Amino acid sequence: MTERFSFALNATDGKARTGVISTPRGEIRTPAFMPVGTAATVKAMMPESVRATGADILLGNTYHLMLRPTAERIDRLGGLHKFMNWDRPILTDSGGFQVMSLAELRKLTEKGVTFKSHIDGSKHELTPERSMEIQRLLGSDIVMCFDECPALPADRARIAESMRLSMRWAARSKEAFGDRPGHALFGIMQGGLEQDFREESAEALKEIGFDGYAVGGLAVGEGQEGMFACLDYAPDMLPVDKPRYLMGVGKPDDIVGAVKRGIDMMDCVLPSRSGRTGQVFTRYGVVNIKNARHQDDPRPLDEHCGCPACSNYSRAYLHHVFRSNEMISGMLLTWHNLHYFQELMQGMRDAIAAGTFAAWEAEFHARRAQGDIEPV
Ligand SMILES: [Zn+2]
Repeated sequence: MTERFSFALNATDGKARTGVISTPRGEIRTPAFMPVGTAATVKAMMPESVRATGADILLGNTYHLMLRPTAERIDRLGGLHKFMNWDRPILTDSGGFQVMSLAELRKLTEKGVTFKSHIDGSKHELTPERSMEIQRLLGSDIVMCFDECPALPADRARIAESMRLSMRWAARSKEAFGDRPGHALFGIMQGGLEQDFREESAEALKEIGFDGYAVGGLAVGEGQEGMFACLDYAPDMLPVDKPRYLMGVGKPDDIVGAVKRGIDMMDCVLPSRSGRTGQVFTRYGVVNIKNARHQDDPRPLDEHCGCPACSNYSRAYLHHVFRSNEMISGMLLTWHNLHYFQELMQGMRDAIAAGTFAAWEAEFHARRAQGDIEPV
């Protein structure tokens, strides 16, 4: 097993890419979908179950973990991998995005952000240096730069000011991260939907030099059309030989569109969160298991899916346990959703390797247009 972080691009098809990220904790096949383990758990899933869905890497949230149980406590207990019983790669975000969206009474300065915890109102500070320290204490394999981004739409002046602050923070993050063989630091491109700011941001990040590059500041209210318009050019501004990560995306069709435009990694709470609210992703689109039409349906959610929910349970049962608020409902539906997302990624990896991505994509959309099969 490798002792260093590296990325090998194996094949491209159009702009879509497939490859392997190697880390001391294992390989990550790309394009990769990363389930989100916010509070050191992918909700409703055992880590071995998450692995069984095909996930090579998880995402952990700095903001949540620094507040509870704290990075120092996790470090004393042997690091995040041991703490949550996941020995494969973990990517942690920097806390910046969640401070902006969750914390109360934020104060933003050149130095960083001070805020009050959404849990108990206690006061905290996050700076590039503190974010690097927290992610080091957690033992994260892929560390994200501390950054800031406005919700869209925002005016150009606000987007430029925010992007330039994030670039200064990126340089401080790199300095604070230091030299840690086997661990990677990713820079985050900002600039909203403004192509000139994206270019400026990409140049600033490449000048600093990172192990991978994220496209940040999307999935913040711009809609799929705005996101794809940005992804039509943004990935091309980043180095070809480094992984490209689109943060916080997304729905299956967002993911397919992002991979088509040259993205290698993504994360989203959607499959796990939806699993708990009865929303199920299938090859034929979204199924709402709470709908009464499932109550006498003996068929599985998707007869072509090999997950435990589809192998062993009927729609009628899944409808019943959801309506009865039974815990197994969230467990089975989350497992299915994560399995579906991982199969989606595997399908794209295979198609890119075979040079058949366009045909794969056409079939993906055609099947979804057909819709869920209604019981007769
Ligand atoms: Zn399934």
